[in-house]
Amino acid sequence: MRKFAEVVVSLPMDRVFNYSIPERLFNEIAVGKRVFVPFQNRTIVGYVVGLSDESGVKDTKEILSVIDAEPIIANDILKLTRWIAQNYFCSWGEAISAAIPGGIKKGKVSIGERVKDIHDGNGAFDKTEPHILMAEQTKALKSITDSIEKKEHKTFLLHGITASGKTEIYLQSIELVLKKGAQAIVLVPEISLTPQTVERFLSRFGDHVAVLHSRLTPAKRFLEWKKIRDGKANIAVGARSAVFSPMKNLGIIILDEEHETSYKQEDVPRYHARDVAEERAKINNCPLILGSATPSLESFYKAKNGEYKLIKLTKRIDERLLPKVKIVDMRMELATRKRITIFSKVFLDALEKAVKAGKQAIIFLNRRGFSTFMNCKKCGFVFKCKRCDTSLVYHFENKKLICHYCNYTTQPPDICPKCRSGYIRYFGLGTEKVESEISRNFSHVRIARMDSDTTVKRGSHDKILGDFKAGATTLLVGTQMIAKGLDFPQVTMVGVVSADVTLNIPDFRSSERTFNLLTQVGGRAGRGEDGGEVIIQTYAPHHYAILAAAKHDYEKFYDEEIVFRKELELPPFINLVKVTVRARNEDITSKTAAELAQAIKSVDVDAKIAGPAPAPMVRMRGYFRYNIMLKGRDRLAMCALLKKVLGSFRKPHGVLIAVDVDPISM
Ligand code: ADP
Ligand code: ZN
Ligand code: ZN
Repeated sequence: MRKFAEVVVSLPMDRVFNYSIPERLFNEIAVGKRVFVPFQNRTIVGYVVGLSDESGVKDTKEILSVIDAEPIIANDILKLTRWIAQNYFCSWGEAISAAIPGGIKKGKVSIGERVKDIHDGNGAFDKTEPHILMAEQTKALKSITDSIEKKEHKTFLLHGITASGKTEIYLQSIELVLKKGAQAIVLVPEISLTPQTVERFLSRFGDHVAVLHSRLTPAKRFLEWKKIRDGKANIAVGARSAVFSPMKNLGIIILDEEHETSYKQEDVPRYHARDVAEERAKINNCPLILGSATPSLESFYKAKNGEYKLIKLTKRIDERLLPKVKIVDMRMELATRKRITIFSKVFLDALEKAVKAGKQAIIFLNRRGFSTFMNCKKCGFVFKCKRCDTSLVYHFENKKLICHYCNYTTQPPDICPKCRSGYIRYFGLGTEKVESEISRNFSHVRIARMDSDTTVKRGSHDKILGDFKAGATTLLVGTQMIAKGLDFPQVTMVGVVSADVTLNIPDFRSSERTFNLLTQVGGRAGRGEDGGEVIIQTYAPHHYAILAAAKHDYEKFYDEEIVFRKELELPPFINLVKVTVRARNEDITSKTAAELAQAIKSVDVDAKIAGPAPAPMVRMRGYFRYNIMLKGRDRLAMCALLKKVLGSFRKPHGVLIAVDVDPISM
């Protein structure tokens, strides 16, 4: 019998603790189980990651009790979480906590307990049969099935334009995996934003599917998790954390819309599900399929270098043409009409044409609210958030000024708080204003708006989309919520009110985001027999991201963007690690950041260190933020270095330091 257990805890302490096992627990203890342990005068939950005959330390405390009847963390997940701890700057225990369902984290539900199953009606969908594949699809499936047969790890990048049949390939790959008695994980950006994709899996595989929805209650989530673990469901469909699904014999991982930023977790552990999926596929010896119409620069670069196998789907099913895209130069519009207009004539004409023909249209603007600026005409005062370095957005519906970062809400004043004049003007536009302007122009048709303001209520999301699908609404105005995965054959026109919103974000990925978003939104047009047209309004009509999106030319965009990334030494050529120092006082923030940068620079490491510099939005939620950037090729080495430096760095009281590996925002 082993006398000692190696235990990790869900605290930011990157080490393994030794505990002795009392005799009464000899039969119960096992690697992968949770235990209660005494820890700094408290009792907390720990995860057993190893057993040994000897302990490196002299006085070990005893384990108090064993929580689980069976291990809840299998060996592959143990390995995977350790990899996450090393690569994403967190402790092993923190990584394990992220890998098990929330409902059992606090040690309340024991896994040996019987939990009453709830029937969730997965079977409510009409069953679909596999399609006979097109030539390109056949070829694509063949390479994937080879890997499945050989049980080898390989990462495929399935680059296919919208509606080229990618999902059908996922479905048929999974079919083979199931036949082999193995299981599948399907990752989607966000369940609520990809209902139609999820439906496709349910209607093909029915009760084999467990859907890991972020809105599930912890108890329900735990049930789904258990269903997978007990082999009652062999396909898990879910957002990023589904990458940890407890499969016994994982046969494939599919990650759809691989370029999506929601695959990156923003809190500790700040992992990227794409990289975690790759590591898991390596550990489990199975293929990983990354699918996208607009792959991330990172993935396409790897595909070009042969690290990933590139599979292309260049044709839409039924040979349907991609929609024609028109770019409208809003500078000309301004010059000829002598005033700022929201919609150009081309835009309104196209909208009118769709409405007259009895079709539908989607109007896209990636900013919610009514007016994005409120300022005083007399003294120039701009209403800003008290806690963030940003202007407040006016929301017409509830007549409030709201901060889009911290949700600070206030009444719009009638007079300027600075000069007391009454000349207050509203500038800039959001979806609310677009909706109201559209309804002025098209008072005879029904219009709906979909953004995070209109989808707060449970079910409102499905209701808006359902009405649109049924044709009860003619025009749909929305933010990026309507850009993804939706398939409405009656939509013949898509209008982008301003492509500049994403283009002007101060982030090196702004061109990539703009290209992705425009391509995705454009893909919503012309999915039916009547074809489609896309109108993009912009003040930067010659920007390569917009031009390439208008031509549906991913590779042209990639070729331009990659040159710029190389010149500036940005991903995919290096890995970035962002160290953020935060405090309520700006002087303390900048001073601490400077000292920390000095400490990092004094250690020998193969990385370039930039900064400290104020974050693009220096103040957020009352905290000032300064960033130090590490640029290097070895993520592991950079993390190890930071663990060492931060371990002995003395920071003033009230200062917070966060490390984000491969950050997706600056
Ligand atoms: P993507 O995932 O690339 O957007 P889908 O797999 O959703 O493409 O395919 C688009 C549409 O074409 C779907 O309605 C799908 O059912 C259908 N489809 C896919 N493959 C075939 C095929 N080989 N034959 C006929 N229809 C197909
Ligand atoms: Zn004023
Ligand atoms: Zn704010």
